[in-house]
Amino acid sequence: MTTTDQTLALANAQTLPRDSIERRIEGREQRVHILTGAVCNNNCIFCMEEDRDARYVTNSATTDETVRWILSQQERYEEVCFTSGEPTTNKRLPLWVRMAKEAGARCISVMTNGRALSYERYAKMLIARGMNRFYVSIHGHTKKLHEGLTRTPGSFEQTVAGLDMITSLKRYGVQLHTSTVITKRNLPHMGEIYRFLRAHGVDQVVFNVMQANGRANTYFDQLFPTYREIADVARDFFDEQYTREREVMAFLVDIPLCTTTGVPDFNRGYVEDYVHFEPPNEINETLLDDLQRAERAGGEHGELVQIRRGDLDDNQRRKRAECQRCRYEPVCEGVWGNYLRRYGWDEFAPVTE
Ligand code: SF4
Repeated sequence: MTTTDQTLALANAQTLPRDSIERRIEGREQRVHILTGAVCNNNCIFCMEEDRDARYVTNSATTDETVRWILSQQERYEEVCFTSGEPTTNKRLPLWVRMAKEAGARCISVMTNGRALSYERYAKMLIARGMNRFYVSIHGHTKKLHEGLTRTPGSFEQTVAGLDMITSLKRYGVQLHTSTVITKRNLPHMGEIYRFLRAHGVDQVVFNVMQANGRANTYFDQLFPTYREIADVARDFFDEQYTREREVMAFLVDIPLCTTTGVPDFNRGYVEDYVHFEPPNEINETLLDDLQRAERAGGEHGELVQIRRGDLDDNQRRKRAECQRCRYEPVCEGVWGNYLRRYGWDEFAPVTE
């Protein structure tokens, strides 16, 4: 960066509104993820966890002792989130939620396909034990669209019933968010999906742009729209939706900010910062050097290692020299290398205003 660039960047940063996307990214706090589901009862075509055997081994290693130790650190984190695989397939989940509550966690959440939440007794049990936020994955507003992506017959009815169940229990102070992974198939239906989910009581609808990893990389050509296509559809959706309501509770997440300047700033979201703990294995040994592994040792007897989101993503994302001129560079995580291999750099222009 030249001195002039730096002066301009500083001047820009000082005049940013406190709720601008840059400020929100800079101010985000860390969550801790607890790897909970060794398996999943959906079979999503874009799943990032492509290596099912590795996931089974890693997530099966989460025990009551692992959870107890992680929860002893919970004050460092703004949220305790049970995730990976399908957490509700793990019979220990209700117990671990109670442990989180007893440890003093303020926000206790789960990332789930929501199917198990359709059972009233189960949903009530999670809430009674302390779960207060639900992130439910749903990828379409129709059976055909959703199940074409989850490849699991019957999953749509159960997930929607799960949403309705949590909505009916909102009097207990729970929040309901959804995550819709954007693909070529559901992109044209953004508005319909949003209105469908809001009608089912969802507080925040998140449209997650696919990460070019795992199965999303395997099926890239069939599934992955360009960022420009996504940004154009999103801009039109927000333009239209703001004629219907004053505050649109939808957020577009995980897309380089230089492509979404046409989207209202309020509706530009970001990927949360998080850490998780897992036993040493072949994969994390390649991610961290000896010093990092020593610094990140966790667990009662040093049997765990802390993995940060950046460890998993940073070496797969790229920037180029022109990015140095972009106002978003300080908060931009770059573009997936797997995406650039297919679509190149043409659609990414530094934003200098
Ligand atoms: S830094 Fe580069 S990739 Fe990131 S938003 Fe700016 S131009 Fe786009």
